[in-house]
Amino acid sequence: MAPNDHYQMQTNRIRTSGAEPRRSIVNAILRGLLRRCPNCGVGPALEGYLKVRAACPCCGEPLGHIRADDGPAYITVLLVGHIVVPLSLVAEQRWQPPVVPHMIAAALLAALLVWRVLPRVKAAVLGLMWALRLDGAERQGDPDKHG
Ligand SMILES: [Zn+2]
Repeated sequence: MAPNDHYQMQTNRIRTSGAEPRRSIVNAILRGLLRRCPNCGVGPALEGYLKVRAACPCCGEPLGHIRADDGPAYITVLLVGHIVVPLSLVAEQRWQPPVVPHMIAAALLAALLVWRVLPRVKAAVLGLMWALRLDGAERQGDPDKHG
């Protein structure tokens, strides 16, 4: 069997294996940024601050089995770091503020941004995983996976 035959078989299997409808990745991420259900965009995806709902209260789509793990935290740190560090450098160059108040202000700004950004990033990652039909299990048939 030629290598291309194997690739073609895999591609055919992927294309024909799912009778389920395609899910829009962009819509799911945008709905997640609004902390909404990736399926209907109406119901809240999270309950409380970061807990994923077991199912959407509006459309009933099961969401609780999707495990984003540390992905949203990494993305949030990446985003917040790229905001706070340049602002801190600009403030240092322009005004040379005293170190302690400057560090306190930077830490407070970082905490404020993390508080506001993390749930949205988590719901967006949830939406992406939902659109790709991922559940966060590390391998197929994992007996420890939820749901
Ligand atoms: Zn929904």
